[in-house]
Amino acid sequence: MTKNESAARLSFEVFPPNTDVGTSKLLTTLDELKSLSPSFISVTCSNKRENIENTTIKVADYVTNVLNIPTVAHLPACALNQKQVENILKRCAELNINRVLALRGDLTPDLSTPSDFKYASDLIEFIQSTAPDFKISGACYPECHPESQSVISDLHYLKQKMDAGCQEFISQFFLDNECFYQFQERCALSDINIPILAGIMPIINRKQALRLLKTSHTHLPRKFVAMLDKYEHNPIALRDAGLAYAIDQIVDLLTQGVSGIHLYTMNNSQTAKAIHAATASLFEEACSTH
Ligand code: FAD
Repeated sequence: MTKNESAARLSFEVFPPNTDVGTSKLLTTLDELKSLSPSFISVTCSNKRENIENTTIKVADYVTNVLNIPTVAHLPACALNQKQVENILKRCAELNINRVLALRGDLTPDLSTPSDFKYASDLIEFIQSTAPDFKISGACYPECHPESQSVISDLHYLKQKMDAGCQEFISQFFLDNECFYQFQERCALSDINIPILAGIMPIINRKQALRLLKTSHTHLPRKFVAMLDKYEHNPIALRDAGLAYAIDQIVDLLTQGVSGIHLYTMNNSQTAKAIHAATASLFEEACSTH
């Protein structure tokens, strides 16, 4: 490993939109994200059985070959069979996309046909055996995956993903850094010793906040709830407070030596730019001291 390879870096997640207008907006967003020199951009993939080559791979191709930024293509196993995975990996290799985030995907009721892969670890094993040159990332959950029977079983299956060939974990977003630090400790005790990138989702509008309150399994710290209560009817104040909250989390995580920050951009380059501007010197410091 060279001097700075293990230093904390900033990476982004984007999602492929459903419409042509959305896609052309995303390309502009990606052009703007390039100026922030991310270590990689990951591209999500719907768990519906749709044409991944026209969505995720198309965006990943743009990021890799037009912008020259490393890309991580998300692959949800529940949407795919072995043949499809082989074809996708072949296409990725042709396009110089050599990193994937191997996921199970959410099991929605419309997924009637059973997949060839029951868990993400099955997909990881398959990729590792058929295309060993790919760098494989996996998902992790500082507050446990909602379906996990216990914290112990969650860690057990997380280790199984690492042992199957996963080289890095990207975390679900969290709002309480303590949850992440405790998770890191549990991982260390379980011999899970690959980098864990911290997922940060800036909550900057009321719609996002309401969705979060309704569906999330994330612990909502008192100061976060107070922020929502106070600013929910003032969009600009809520945006500013939400950005400040995410920046505060990132400053703390970098100070504590996190492996990297993965920002859920929601395709919003303004948010990413504001966070980058407020934390760039901390990432530089992480590089220079590593
Ligand atoms: P797994 O690792 O397979 O775990 C799922 C559950 O099964 C866990 O409770 C685990 O403990 C348990 N388990 C694992 N192995 C076994 C076993 N052998 N026996 C019994 N139980 C087991 N979804 C999408 O559809 N598209 C995306 O692009 C996408 N991107 C994501 C990015 C990140 C960073 C994260 C954190 C999640 C993302 N998701 C995405 C959501 C993800 O697909 C869901 O959270 C899904 O429910 C679980 O996926 P997983 O890969 O973590 O599954």
